[in-house]
Amino acid sequence: MVERTLILVKPDGVQRGLIGEVISRFERRGLKLVAMKFMLPTESILAKHYEAHINKGFYPGLVSYLTSGPVVAMVWEGWDAIKACRLTIGDTHANEAPAGTIRGDLAIHISRNIVHGSADANDAAREVPIWFSDDELISYERATELWITRPD
Ligand code: UDP
Ligand code: MG
Repeated sequence: MVERTLILVKPDGVQRGLIGEVISRFERRGLKLVAMKFMLPTESILAKHYEAHINKGFYPGLVSYLTSGPVVAMVWEGWDAIKACRLTIGDTHANEAPAGTIRGDLAIHISRNIVHGSADANDAAREVPIWFSDDELISYERATELWITRPD
């Protein structure tokens, strides 16, 4: 099924000059960009986004990390996009993420793991509207689509 998933290049990815590197991995995978913005996340947007983690010990550090600088928020669309993006991103524990993944190639520590991707369909449906309004999600046809997936 065609899905949409929320991806963030976190502040460490921006600071380290990895925006293009991260975007190119999703582009090369065959995913389609449907929304993108460069922004400073507020504590209130993060409280919604990381709602499940609010009571965890790492939450204050997570919020100061995500508010420490700009992020690139994106929505990517494609066949099985949520799982495909999570596999492209690699394990949360960057030191255990396989080589070939974004975290496995570019990060070493769980607290600075460069990128966020929605974990499952429920999270994707919940997270996309936190970062984007409906009119910011652009539907368009790609001439290359049939070279990436076949029609159902
Ligand atoms: N995190 C952290 N320490 C932990 C667990 C998580 O700093 O012990 C941060 C890390 O940035 C992670 C984010 O909190 O990406 C959200 O955690 P989650 O388990 O949802 O991982 P993700 O879905 O990002 O792989
Ligand atoms: Mg998560």
